[in-house]
Amino acid sequence: MAVIFGPAGLGPVKTSAKILSQYNSHGLKACEIAFTYNCYIKPPETPLIREKAKELGIDLSIHAQYWVNLNAKEEEKREATKKRILQCCEIGELLEAKVVVFHPGYYTDNKEDSYQTIKKGVKEIMEEIKKRGWKIKIAPETMGKINVFGSMEEISRLAKETGCSFCIDFAHILARDKKIDYKKIENLFPQEEWHVHFSGIVYGEKGEKHHITTTKEAWKELLKNIPLKKNIRIINESPSMIDDSIEGLNIWKKMQF
Ligand SMILES: [Zn+2]
Repeated sequence: MAVIFGPAGLGPVKTSAKILSQYNSHGLKACEIAFTYNCYIKPPETPLIREKAKELGIDLSIHAQYWVNLNAKEEEKREATKKRILQCCEIGELLEAKVVVFHPGYYTDNKEDSYQTIKKGVKEIMEEIKKRGWKIKIAPETMGKINVFGSMEEISRLAKETGCSFCIDFAHILARDKKIDYKKIENLFPQEEWHVHFSGIVYGEKGEKHHITTTKEAWKELLKNIPLKKNIRIINESPSMIDDSIEGLNIWKKMQF
């Protein structure tokens, strides 16, 4: 079992090898590449990043575009979402990234109907991945706003019923549920490998407002409650994601004695 840490960003292609070396020099062994605004790495640019990450033993992952919605009313929008996620998967596969994280979608009137439509989309993307012979996995994320699809129960059910991967965002769970029930999360996600997002968060009645710097106390609480018999990648998404990741790692190291 291992817990690894890293930030939610790599930056431009031309400095990526240098940045990965910097992360590595701090002991950070995970890096999530933000395709949140666009899929900015082109196929010919992938070998350099892939080989550098491999040489340093850094796990790469990808965050897909924000504007995706597998539960859009219009079929063309659902198709466009699938295409965007698959484009991230294509680059992710070339990078030998572990997962492509994405925000599954919004609710329509009925939560169960929303679930079924999103499940169908997830299955279609997975079939396409299989058809192309890729190893990359897709990971719908637990979401921080109560009116957005992605409670931990919904994401757990998707993983169970489709075999997709998942991203447990503990800050989002706190914002949505106003507390973190670690035992319940462990029961909902019995899988051996966890992809995790974590950072400080400001939230209100309706859930997430924005991410903030992660406090030492927040790190300590998370790290003393995560299950020990798993492989866990913790991606920090705060405005100071590199310093926060280093702090998390250092707190974790101290807890091992
Ligand atoms: Zn996200």
